[in-house]
Amino acid sequence: MIEVHFHHNLRVTDNSVLSEAMAQDQVVAIAQQPTIMTAQDVFRYQQLRRLHRELAALGVPLVLKEQVIKDKPTLLHDVATVVTKQGTPYKVFTPFYKACLKRNVRSVVAKPMQQEAPFTTDFPQLALPQWAQKISAYWPQDVQEVLANFTPQRYAAKRDFPSEQAISYLSPYLAVGAISPVQLHATFSEYESFIRQLIWRDFAHYTLAQYPLMASEPLREHFNHFPYQRDEQLQVLWQQGKTGYPLVDAGMRELYATGYMHNRVRMVCASFFTKHLLQPWQDGVKYFSEQLVDYDLANNAVNWQWVAGCGIDASPYFRIFNPITQRTKFKAEAYIKKWLPADYNVLPIVDHKAARARALAAYDMIKGEN
Ligand SMILES: Cc1cc2nc3c(=O)[nH]c(=O)nc-3n(C[C@H](O)[C@H](O)[C@H](O)COP(=O)(O)OP(=O)(O)OC[C@H]3O[C@@H](n4cnc5c(N)ncnc54)[C@H](O)[C@@H]3O)c2cc1C
Repeated sequence: MIEVHFHHNLRVTDNSVLSEAMAQDQVVAIAQQPTIMTAQDVFRYQQLRRLHRELAALGVPLVLKEQVIKDKPTLLHDVATVVTKQGTPYKVFTPFYKACLKRNVRSVVAKPMQQEAPFTTDFPQLALPQWAQKISAYWPQDVQEVLANFTPQRYAAKRDFPSEQAISYLSPYLAVGAISPVQLHATFSEYESFIRQLIWRDFAHYTLAQYPLMASEPLREHFNHFPYQRDEQLQVLWQQGKTGYPLVDAGMRELYATGYMHNRVRMVCASFFTKHLLQPWQDGVKYFSEQLVDYDLANNAVNWQWVAGCGIDASPYFRIFNPITQRTKFKAEAYIKKWLPADYNVLPIVDHKAARARALAAYDMIKGEN
C-alpha cells in the first residue's frame, strides 16, 4: 500500500506522483485535516471535497491527518536547471523568461485508471461560519467552470483593466493545484502574454528557493533600515477600504468579500500601504496571506517586495502608484461602482502629494546605503 500526500497538487490529472504510485500498488491518499482560519482554508476545504469525490471514482480513499508531507507546487518549467551562462541563478525576470521560452514544456500526465479492489472513506462536513460560506459560494468547485468563462483572446489587451474581467481568475485553483500550469499551457500556449504570467509564477518560486525568508526579509538589505511608521489604526482603515481613495477602497472591499483582488488593484493597494501610509510591507504580506483565496507564499512575497521597492527585480522606489490617475488610466469606474456602496463618502486619510513627498524623503534616508 502506497501513501500519496496531497497539499499543493489537489488533482488527479497531471499528477505524476499519483499515477506512478497507482501503477505500482494500491494507493491511499493523505491530506491535512481541514481547519477554517483563513480565506484559503475555506477554498482548500471546498477543493478537498472535490478531490475526495474524484479519488473515490478511482477507488482511492482519502484519509485526513493532522500532519502531511507537503508536496511541491507544480511549475511550468523545471526551474532548478534554469541558470545563466555563468551557471548562477537569474536575478531579473526578463532574461529568466527568455530562457524559459527556449525550453519545452512536458506533456500532461493522464488521469490514472481506477485501482483494483477500490475502497473509499467518508469526508467530514464542517459547519462553516457565514463569512466562509460566502467565499465558498463565490468560487465554483469545478475549475472547468472558471476555464469556460475565460476568453484568452481578450487577455493581452484588457488584463490591466479591472472593470473588464479579462483575466482568468485561475489563481486560487493554481494555488492549491486543482489545475497545473502544464495543463494550462497545453490549452493556451499560443497566448504569450498569459503564458508570461505563468512564468512569473515560476520566477516567484525560483526566487523563493534562493531566498527562503523572502516573506519577511527584504532582498535589498538596506530596506531593513527603512523608517516605516507602523500604525495599527491606519492599517485597519486600509483593510476595511476606508482610505478615501475609491480605487484602493474598492480593491480592499473586493478582497474582503471574495478573497480575491484584481492584479492591477493589488499593486495600487500594496503601494498605497507601504508608500502613502509608510506601513511595513511585511504587515501587508501577512494580511494578504489571511485574506487571499489564492495565497501563495512565493507569489505574495515577490509581488509585495516588487511593489515596496525592496525586491531584487523591483520597480524603482520613486515609482509610487497614484491611486487617482490609476483609476482613470485603467478605466476603473465600473469596478469601483461594483465594490463601493452607493453612499460611499470617505475623506482621504492622507493627501496624495504630501504622502508621496514623505515616502520619497523616507527613502532618501536609506538610499545611500544601497
Ligand atoms: C501585492 C501583491 C500580492 C500578490 N499575492 C499573490 C498571491 O498570494 N498569490 C498569487 O497567486 N498571486 C499573487 N499576486 C499576483 C497576481 O495579482 C495574481 O496572481 C493574479 O491577480 C491572479 O488572478 P488571475 O488568476 O486572474 O491572473 P491571470 O492574469 O489570469 O494570470 C494567470 C496566472 O498567472 C500567475 N500570475 C499572474 N500574475 C502574477 C504575478 N504578478 N506574479 C506571479 N504570478 C502571477 C497566477 O498564478 C495567475 O493565476 C500578487 C500581486 C500583488 C501585486
